[in-house]
Amino acid sequence: VRTLVVVSGKGGAGKTSLASGLIPFIARPVMADADVDGSNLSLLLEAETVHTETFVGGQVARVRSADCAGCLDCMAACRFGAVRADDGVASIDTLSCEGCGVCRQVCPADAIEMQQVESGRWFVSKTRFGPMVHARLGPGGENSGALVERVRRAAAEAAVEDRRDVVLVDAPAGLGCPVISSLTGADLALAVTEPTPSGESDLFRLLDLTYHFRLPTVVAINKADLAPERTTALEARLDAVDVPVVARFPYDTSVSRLLSEGKLLSEESPSWYERLERLWRSLEPLIVSAA
Ligand code: SF4
Ligand code: SF4
Repeated sequence: VRTLVVVSGKGGAGKTSLASGLIPFIARPVMADADVDGSNLSLLLEAETVHTETFVGGQVARVRSADCAGCLDCMAACRFGAVRADDGVASIDTLSCEGCGVCRQVCPADAIEMQQVESGRWFVSKTRFGPMVHARLGPGGENSGALVERVRRAAAEAAVEDRRDVVLVDAPAGLGCPVISSLTGADLALAVTEPTPSGESDLFRLLDLTYHFRLPTVVAINKADLAPERTTALEARLDAVDVPVVARFPYDTSVSRLLSEGKLLSEESPSWYERLERLWRSLEPLIVSAA
């Protein structure tokens, strides 16, 4: 099983539109939507959930008030101001509690216990292209990097079980912990960027990350015709660091329109069909040779 991760340091570069548009060309794919804060791919692919699991991403402290002696040692020890005194006993504000467990260690009455909290859910769904794994972080849910890691692992398991060839990961936007989790174990990264100053600086920060993880990376420049000179300069800069540009796409308002209408680019537009088919033909040998 090979894994292609589609990343973009910056939101709005067209990452999900291009990633989803590639799917019809992949023989036997598994889709992993790692954007656990705002999953789009499941809507685009009309995913039908067949399996749901809760994700336990952390813990909070709880005081058994019947055992509490009211010494408030826990309040003094908590660095996060999460302990209150209520009628002579301690109680914990679960929204402020970071789950560090210090209060439990200092409590002389052994009145504090740690409880696991559900921070999200992840799903295995059926789509017309194959299995898909996606997730939703709960309100106030934390540890999205760990949830992404769970999605990635479940997608790899589904690929083995269903004898699939390629896992396509739609990474979250940005450069934080969830993005790093989505890069782990991939064979090739496709970085989607646009020729703007912020797009370029985010791209190079992303390339620092993939270089660090020794993950072969290629670039697709979206909206290239909006700034032809900047595109040429960006290509020269990428060439200097041996990062191949595998596609240049024009600015096209139908990209975001089709995404908002829940339609796949390659299925709705003949010109995008051609562009994305060509892109897939250039990616496929790289994924195979990278593995
Ligand atoms: S340290 Fe223990 S006994 Fe003291 S107030 Fe906190 S919970 Fe109660
Ligand atoms: S677990 Fe840590 S953060 Fe939570 S109440 Fe106890 S000391 Fe404070």
